[in-house]
Amino acid sequence: MVAKKIKPVRVRIAPSPTGYLHIGTARTALFNYLFAKQNNGSFILRIEDTDLERSEKRFEEDIINSLQWLGLDWDEGPVAGKKTYKGKFKPYRQTERLDTYEKYINKLLEDHAAYYCFCTKEELENQRQAALAEGRAPKYSGKCRSLSAEEVKQNMAINQGHVIRFKVPEVTVSFKDLIRGEISFDATLIGDIVIAKDPRVPLYNFAVVVDDSEMEISHVIRGEDHIANTPKQILIQRALGLDQPEYAHLPLILDPDRSKMSKRYSATSINEYKEQGFLPEAMVNFMALLGWHPQGDKETFTIEELAKEFDLTRIQKAGAVFNIAKLKWVNGQYIKKLQPEQLMLRLGLPETKENLRVGAIVKDRLETLQDFAALTDFLFKLPEYEAGLLVWQTNTKEKTKENLESARKILSNIEEADYNKKYLDEVLMPTAIAQGKGDYLWPLRVAVSGQKASPGPFEIIEALGKEKTLERIQIAIDKLI
Ligand code: GLU
Repeated sequence: MVAKKIKPVRVRIAPSPTGYLHIGTARTALFNYLFAKQNNGSFILRIEDTDLERSEKRFEEDIINSLQWLGLDWDEGPVAGKKTYKGKFKPYRQTERLDTYEKYINKLLEDHAAYYCFCTKEELENQRQAALAEGRAPKYSGKCRSLSAEEVKQNMAINQGHVIRFKVPEVTVSFKDLIRGEISFDATLIGDIVIAKDPRVPLYNFAVVVDDSEMEISHVIRGEDHIANTPKQILIQRALGLDQPEYAHLPLILDPDRSKMSKRYSATSINEYKEQGFLPEAMVNFMALLGWHPQGDKETFTIEELAKEFDLTRIQKAGAVFNIAKLKWVNGQYIKKLQPEQLMLRLGLPETKENLRVGAIVKDRLETLQDFAALTDFLFKLPEYEAGLLVWQTNTKEKTKENLESARKILSNIEEADYNKKYLDEVLMPTAIAQGKGDYLWPLRVAVSGQKASPGPFEIIEALGKEKTLERIQIAIDKLI
């Protein structure tokens, strides 16, 4: 008996550059990437840009940049072995592979598995209407199936518009989806599909079959919205005598109302999340949990950990609801773990002493990098506030002023180097307790923050440093005169 040779794992993400990288496509890319990594396989990027009207260079750039930002590097490109494209592998592009498609289309035409169709739009519409009127599912009538070579030639000669159709055999197509199990389609309902406008203008279902075979893709892992394309692709594979890859269709990402994710609830493109201050490692972590569940209760994973734990068979069939609150929570966890220097780097701010101090006190409260400005504005510029805000509950202005003067005195005797939360706590707390914590610490906190709600006074004082702190307390004292 000959042992069946195990094919190496080769997977791909095949985005069409007709929009910015969508979170759904990014999640598909991530699952493919993880599957490749855990199987020592290859992850390929293929830009499906055959739709010239809808494809745009700026979208291609965005897709490439966003995948890079997420850390989803692809392992090869058409130029063997070299990273020649902005330090990365050049991605495959379908528009650069037209010779290949032409070869395969001609083979189908020669084998009479595909044919030229000259039906006009009006004719097709009439056929469709007739089918609907008779209660039949509309499908192509097959009118041009049996045109002779001579008739085709004549139609071509008079420049009659044409497309190329694939003869869809009247069979039942079944395949075993790695997530959804056995799936069957009755191909008699499909009708002969258009696979190209011309031998050099292939359409999606055809180009994808050729490329998946030429690139020796072992597993096609993609969104569930492509399930209905799978039987068409399998039939084209069979007609060309190509191997069938394994299929795994991922559940859709849903909005909270369980409709397909749209811009109505949340941003859908990766660059929007980048701009809103989400970290790539948090996005990766969050996206991994959209439809996949690890074995334990662990919720934060690095991409390396994910590559170990990921399991295609633990992907759910039901749609995955996108929960923005969860994404913010995950992001906050990652921001918390950053050192102040790393935080400044992510924020694009210089690592000044002041910035680092501020970063250290607020980072535990940031859900996104964007929160930084809102949470720290008061540290850079004291907000306007009324004298009354300084007075705690039933205390008097006089007593409040005395307490602030006492705090100012103690603080002015502390060395700048000792302006840290722990030391300030030790030095000021005994007096605060003696005078009443609310009466003593409330005005101090308002004086240094100018705000009704803020972090605690010692944290703020640590971030402000000695000079600014004393200045702010003096402003408060002056308000109480
Ligand atoms: N270009 C297709 C898309 O963007 C690829 C689908 C597939 O993975 O086969 O949806």
